Amino acid sequence: MRFQKLESRLNKSLSEVVKSGQFILGNQVEKFEREFSKYIGTQHCVAVNSCTDAITLCLKALSINPGDEVITTGLTAPATAIGIINSGATPVIVDIEDRTHCIDIKAIEAGITKNTKAIIPVHLHGFAADMSAIMEIAEKYNLIVIEDCAQAHGATINEKKVGSIGHFGVFSFYPTKNLGCPGDGGAITTNSSEWAAKLTSLRNYGFDENEITVAGINSRLDELQAAILSELLPHLDEYNTKRRMYAQRYIGALQQLDIELPVYSKDAVYHQFVIKVNNRNIVRKKLLERRVATGVHYDKTLADHPALAEYCKELKNAHEAANSMISLPIQPEILDQHFEQIVTAIKAVIN
Ligand SMILES: *Cc1c(COP(=O)(O)O)cnc(C)c1O
Repeated sequence: MRFQKLESRLNKSLSEVVKSGQFILGNQVEKFEREFSKYIGTQHCVAVNSCTDAITLCLKALSINPGDEVITTGLTAPATAIGIINSGATPVIVDIEDRTHCIDIKAIEAGITKNTKAIIPVHLHGFAADMSAIMEIAEKYNLIVIEDCAQAHGATINEKKVGSIGHFGVFSFYPTKNLGCPGDGGAITTNSSEWAAKLTSLRNYGFDENEITVAGINSRLDELQAAILSELLPHLDEYNTKRRMYAQRYIGALQQLDIELPVYSKDAVYHQFVIKVNNRNIVRKKLLERRVATGVHYDKTLADHPALAEYCKELKNAHEAANSMISLPIQPEILDQHFEQIVTAIKAVIN
């Protein structure tokens, strides 16, 4: 729907790209990289094909070796752990804080070994993880921090955007993200010129001038997606403001119910609006009967995926959250027409 509203603008950009005949690594990608790094507040942005690849590429740029460990959270898209595994490193997956659903600071410290190289906090559902505590741990143990910002484009901490606080920020532009393109896309933000140069080489097979010195991967954002992202980026703050407005209205309207609501924060971007309820599956079914489609992010912790279980520590809070969460509709385009109906349905079902 976001795309339909901007259709004529997008068509114009697309036809310009088609006329240019340049589809890979041209002006559009460079332009979007400049605009996105400016928006996030970093020196550099390297556009890639996905957030999964962005994680893999950051770890490759750090010359991670087999046996090196990377600590991340047990409640996230499996992609966060897959990106680590694809780099050759070993994920160490730890529990979340009950209230914020982001990585638990004490669990990070408990998970550190002599092999730990990096921490990947995830700014889940549009809420920033506790970056000041994480950066303090990173400094103490000399670790790299890669912020997974796939659900938090534009979220802030003390006026700084997420993705500009750690050593790297990694983003997804999958269509449903707060900034999404009609296809796959991703980006890495960093203030390091040296790492940005390495990443630029590694995303393009590892080409350095015209030879390969380190084998990279093929993970490029294409020109068509970059052109569309440049059209959408100036609207991101307006989309996020709308998400916050609906979050605030939900919180006001659902106050009295026996459910756990997210807090209101002007710094959050509400990629999902997640409530916790008893009898989650029954509640979802009844909402669907009233034509309110909900999601769950996530109904599995990473420990519930056969390929990831072996990397997981005890995930007590993550399991509890995964059993009680419901994501209510928060896409501004849907809510504009149906917000009151959705609230009425929720009140009827939960009482
Ligand atoms: C969507 C998402 C990813 C994966 O992004 P892709 O671009 O699909 O690879 C990674 N981490 C989180 C937290 C996500 O929400």
